[in-house]
Amino acid sequence: MEDLAPRPGDLEPIETASRDEIAALQLSRLKWSLRHCYENAPFYRKRFDDAGVHPDDLKSLADLARFPFTTKADLRDNYPFGMCAVPREKLVRVHGSSGTTGKPIVVGYTAQDISTWADLVARSIRASGGRTGDIVHVAYGYGLFTGGLGAHYGAERLGCTVVPMSGGMTERQVTLIADFKPRVIMVTPSYMLSILDEFRRQRIDPRDSSLAVGIFGAEPWTNAMRAEIEGAFDMHAVDIYGMSEIMGPGVANECVETKDGMHIWEDHFYPEVINPETGEVLPEGEMGELVFTTLTKEGMPMVRYRTRDLTRLLPGTARSMRRMEKIAGRSDDMMILRGVNVFPTQIEEQILKCRALAPHFQIELTRSGPMDSMTVHVECTPDATAPDARKAVAAELSHHIKSVIGLSARIDVHDPDHIARSEGKALRVIDNRPKR
Ligand code: AMP
Repeated sequence: MEDLAPRPGDLEPIETASRDEIAALQLSRLKWSLRHCYENAPFYRKRFDDAGVHPDDLKSLADLARFPFTTKADLRDNYPFGMCAVPREKLVRVHGSSGTTGKPIVVGYTAQDISTWADLVARSIRASGGRTGDIVHVAYGYGLFTGGLGAHYGAERLGCTVVPMSGGMTERQVTLIADFKPRVIMVTPSYMLSILDEFRRQRIDPRDSSLAVGIFGAEPWTNAMRAEIEGAFDMHAVDIYGMSEIMGPGVANECVETKDGMHIWEDHFYPEVINPETGEVLPEGEMGELVFTTLTKEGMPMVRYRTRDLTRLLPGTARSMRRMEKIAGRSDDMMILRGVNVFPTQIEEQILKCRALAPHFQIELTRSGPMDSMTVHVECTPDATAPDARKAVAAELSHHIKSVIGLSARIDVHDPDHIARSEGKALRVIDNRPKR
């Protein structure tokens, strides 16, 4: 794989600024943002008044802990435009969350918000090893989902040639990659696996493709999956993080030279990690729920928005801005089985240890009597379809899950191509338990 470390002069000054400079910028922007919310969004004025806080109470970054949280329920309750801090006419675009967990929500952007977003996605693509002049194949879905258009505007901003392919039509994805020879692809990691299958189906060696950098996000994926994709395509696989409520993709991004978690673009977003039960702010390095406050957003600013994503904050490495560890999962995705907490990413890690299994899987939860059970549906690789081989790999996976996670799971090893393929975010858990 190419060495893609940035060259001198590639980075924006803020990316290598001192922690003091970053904190000073954050404090002045945070004061602006809280005042903007209080003066222009009746929702926040009431929230702050009810909590007995005023933007003037913020003297230091730590004072933010005195302000109330915002949650997805607030966005639903104020659907569609009730949380805006500008007149609706000033919004140039809306997006919606994909609604994977409950009713969709809507978010609005001013022209300046869209421009900031493009800047930050351009920064993210550069951090991933993309360069001006690259061809960028965007296979995130276009539409209300922020993935496609977010990636698109960022790639244009960096001066790339964008192929706005969107998700789906997998055969065509492979044809266009072969014909246009993009250096960069932006897509969910699970859909990248579907594209990989299609390369193999067409008997094209993915390692011969032009792809040098994949920027994968919108769903949790593991370092084991990174190794799988990097090996299959001989390309760098880099993590991009974001969410509609805060902006869309490009809130944080890994740097290709370190691949050690995502640097949060802290000049625009202030991160906190809290104890999800008590709301208390946790020190750097401790695992908890990620919370963001937007520092520059005009249209629909967010104060202490609870993402439900579980991670920890880490000091900067390739950049001075802090990192967040790869997302372990969303608190909504956490399964509790016989007292053991488990995330789909933990199952993914164990599957990828088994050479006779393909990286496609779904977890089914069922209940008989008081007992919840988990069945892991996976596929064997084409050369491991014999009954003995399947039995052996089922036993191997079951052993890994038992010894690493501490859970007894039923393993169903299916034929290749059995598991429904994702064209966007993968559906990892099927909950067939009767509602209590
Ligand atoms: P949406 O607003 O519909 O795009 O969904 C945002 C959610 O997708 C986040 O809150 C995360 O749960 C998930 N997500 C986005 N990017 C990543 C990533 N790189 N790793 C893990 N989860 C992610």
